[in-house]
Amino acid sequence: MQSLVDTPKVAYFSMEIALESSVPTYAGGLGVLAGDTLRSGADLGVPMLGVTLLHRKGYFEQRLDGQGNQTELPATWHPEDVLEPTKARTSVTIEGRKVKLRAWRYVIRGIGGHTVPVYLLDTALAENSPYDQTLTDFLYGGDHHYRLCQEVILGIGGIQMLDALGHSHLEIYHMNEGHAAFISLALLEKQLADRALSSVTEEDRQGLRRKCIFTTHTPVPAGHDQFQKDLVQQVLGPERTTALEGADCFTDGTLNMTYVALKYSHYINGVAMHHAEISRGMFPNYPIRAITNGVHAVTWTCPAFRELYDRHFPEWRRDNLYLRYAIGIPLVEIKAAHAAAKRALFEEIKKKNGSRLEESVMTIGFARRATAYKRANLLFTDLDHLRRIADRVGPFQIVLGGKAHFRDEPGKATIRRVFEAAALLKDKIKIVYVENYDILWGQFITSGVDLWLNTPQRPYEASGTSGMKAALNGVPSLSVPDGWWFEGHVEGVTGWDIGQEEVSESSAQEVADLYNKLEHIVLPMFYGRPDAYTGVMRSTIALNGSFFNTQRMVSQYLLNAFREEPALTAPQVLVELLRPEKAMPGQSNKTSS
Ligand SMILES: *Cc1c(COP(=O)(O)O)cnc(C)c1O
Repeated sequence: MQSLVDTPKVAYFSMEIALESSVPTYAGGLGVLAGDTLRSGADLGVPMLGVTLLHRKGYFEQRLDGQGNQTELPATWHPEDVLEPTKARTSVTIEGRKVKLRAWRYVIRGIGGHTVPVYLLDTALAENSPYDQTLTDFLYGGDHHYRLCQEVILGIGGIQMLDALGHSHLEIYHMNEGHAAFISLALLEKQLADRALSSVTEEDRQGLRRKCIFTTHTPVPAGHDQFQKDLVQQVLGPERTTALEGADCFTDGTLNMTYVALKYSHYINGVAMHHAEISRGMFPNYPIRAITNGVHAVTWTCPAFRELYDRHFPEWRRDNLYLRYAIGIPLVEIKAAHAAAKRALFEEIKKKNGSRLEESVMTIGFARRATAYKRANLLFTDLDHLRRIADRVGPFQIVLGGKAHFRDEPGKATIRRVFEAAALLKDKIKIVYVENYDILWGQFITSGVDLWLNTPQRPYEASGTSGMKAALNGVPSLSVPDGWWFEGHVEGVTGWDIGQEEVSESSAQEVADLYNKLEHIVLPMFYGRPDAYTGVMRSTIALNGSFFNTQRMVSQYLLNAFREEPALTAPQVLVELLRPEKAMPGQSNKTSS
């Protein structure tokens, strides 16, 4: 008989999940986080599963011309090569039509062999109309109507599919961002059984809340998913629309998916301490807690550092806290591992771009979604000043990457501006913008540069995770104080701050401080006191690598969120995990039945 422990109890819903580099079902940080969460869940033996859409045509493949103009190509992949088809079928009502769904399975195997299945929902079935067949094609593609249909498929279709697949022991439903909030409607309908949605009572809602938890990722109201009421009526029908209205999920005639998730969750969290604080300001009626994001340590540690950690503390793969002991690794070994990572990045760049970078030169990295608030071009505000820094203190080179959403014109403009700056600086500062930034490039860039630059417009960066990947590879950050950096920053120990926390400064002040840090602190240390710089790299691993990982993060979800009620009893999933029959071999407990 299958052990209860292996029977999923937590269902994790996310519009995007980064499973592996050949599966383009993610756009950026949200999807990478979802994948890392499930990978750590598998490592920790958490009885959980994931639900997302198939995204048959993926996000997109980025092409850049010589001026940095982006064009998008469909990201082609073959689900049948990587996924296992399931026989389960269900349907979901959209605009009064029945849209049939199937599910594909991807299995994540953790370090101890525990598995976490991920179900990818697919509408490309012959029974569906040609249009309905495209509903699970593009991630964040199409218009509002397309997006709303996708959210109905993810939320309502997802819950129905779990029933069709026979997952009957689920206790906790986790909404990773508001896109998944319609699971609440489906769960409510299930709970009411034959009763009409209009008969819902506060007690019913309370019953639903006990099962749901919600993680919000957006620190500004404009970032939250919203749909006009007539569109909601059209897609969901009058009964479900009225139910959402009855729960106060509309403001000014607009359905706010964040409200749907907030109303129906008993545990709500932001993705960093500072972000939770900001979220409480936006939604003062909700008890919003914080569980700071992380990254999957083994996935984001480059081969040279994996080998180094394996040598010093082989337990780190199973227990990331061992990374704290990096503080005792001799500097020469850190230096050698980093040199190997840098060489690997430069070789990859030579292969793909034809550009040659200099291994002895300070290399600054910046790669993330190209959207205006991330300010990829802030560094290039004053080109003459950058030239002067290179002349006075020492040379530096810059590696960048990032895709702009196909409708994000300001985001696309930031890429063009970086290309303009690169052309103007080319006699003095080498700048490489890699095309089609994805998780493979992410691994190369976050491990192969000497400094990770992060210059978001505050307070837009809820957490940010690429600096955490860098930290696992000993790469310190130079960052404005926002998101995770409020917690990760120790001046001169894990990197350096840009600007001050208290004053809300202009970008001119931030630029001045950024140049000041580069010119007077970072570059002089890199060239003048290389051992001190390697010391910063080492303490970055010990302090930030050991904490900002998804193993710590998922453990915090277990301790704080994955419980049916916000009571002070141990969460059921944790009790199950710690049952004697789950104990390590050799620790068998005679009283177990
Ligand atoms: C890690 C990662 C991101 C997220 O980076 P942030 O710093 O959180 O913006 C986005 N895209 C890819 C491909 C990544 O690997």
